[in-house]
Amino acid sequence: MDKHTYDLVIIGGGPAGLTSGIYAQRAGLKTLLLEKEIPGGQVNEAPSIENYPGFIEISGMELANKIKEHAASLDLPIENEAVQKIIDNDSEKLIRTSGKDISAKAIIIATGAKPRHLEIKGEQEFLGRGVSYCATCDGPLFRGKVVAAIGGGDRAIKEALYLSNIVEKVYVIHRRQEFRAEKVNVERLSAKKNVEYVLDSVAEEIKGEGLVKSLAVKNVKEGTVSELPVNGVFVFVGIIPRNEFIEAEKDSHGFLITKPDLQTSVKGIFAVGDCRSKNLRQVATAVGEGAQAVASVEEYLHS
Ligand code: NAP
Repeated sequence: MDKHTYDLVIIGGGPAGLTSGIYAQRAGLKTLLLEKEIPGGQVNEAPSIENYPGFIEISGMELANKIKEHAASLDLPIENEAVQKIIDNDSEKLIRTSGKDISAKAIIIATGAKPRHLEIKGEQEFLGRGVSYCATCDGPLFRGKVVAAIGGGDRAIKEALYLSNIVEKVYVIHRRQEFRAEKVNVERLSAKKNVEYVLDSVAEEIKGEGLVKSLAVKNVKEGTVSELPVNGVFVFVGIIPRNEFIEAEKDSHGFLITKPDLQTSVKGIFAVGDCRSKNLRQVATAVGEGAQAVASVEEYLHS
């Protein structure tokens, strides 16, 4: 197996990881960023971002491209590798991918999160045939059709807004009355004429023949089940972290617990962005953590 030694290996190429890369290059650290898909991360899928300072409104893909360009201008080395395991030998850490072991003095984990599934009947069967986790990716396929958007968080409300501009009608299905999403977007959505709320309700089964035809929903207060005629079901019920390859302290939902310097319970391994246990997941917080972690890595390397 090939062996390379780096001061810092960053795992994950979303806004948090790329920001760490920018700071590490400028600090002169021998750095490598590993990304298993395409750099940019989940933000690529955001229809629009309106709370990242400096841009009144920008699409997720455009912002991701700008951050990638910035990293490229500093010649940040990026390799397309999926990490399988980290072997911690204290001052030397081995990062095992399918093809090689990479050696690093410090690691920043910036692997983000992926959509949580509902785990109901029909969800797997109709994946890609009406079931989706990304309105920007799949919304245009439902032009003029009827869809359901499930969830009450930022993602559900923003994606429902995006869908409402394309499709004929959006049912917003949420398990209680109140939305945890940003108020400004909840208000925008409630002004839409083609949005119908199905509250205090959970999705029970996705039905169809080849393609999705309907969604069975249960009212949790009354116990009644109704069937909504829909062509698409967009699921936005939260996220689960992508950090199964690391053995470090995690919270009850699997997010990595960090100290104030962003170090995990394993010395020399830091975590930033959505894979970390915290209460605000935004591009603005991700990039701040990406920067802070590099300062902490420098301190760790010199201690
Ligand atoms: P989230 O904030 O965790 O919201 C998940 C939603 O799904 C909640 O409304 C929750 O209901 C509901 N839910 C969870 N499990 C469910 C189930 N089994 N059945 C039905 N409903 C269920 O997740 P998110 O919206 O995906 O956002 C993830 C993170 O990214 C958040 O921190 C969010 O703030 C951030 N984000 C920010 C933006 C932005 O523009 N600022 C955009 C996207 C994402 P309850 O409310 O009842 O718990």
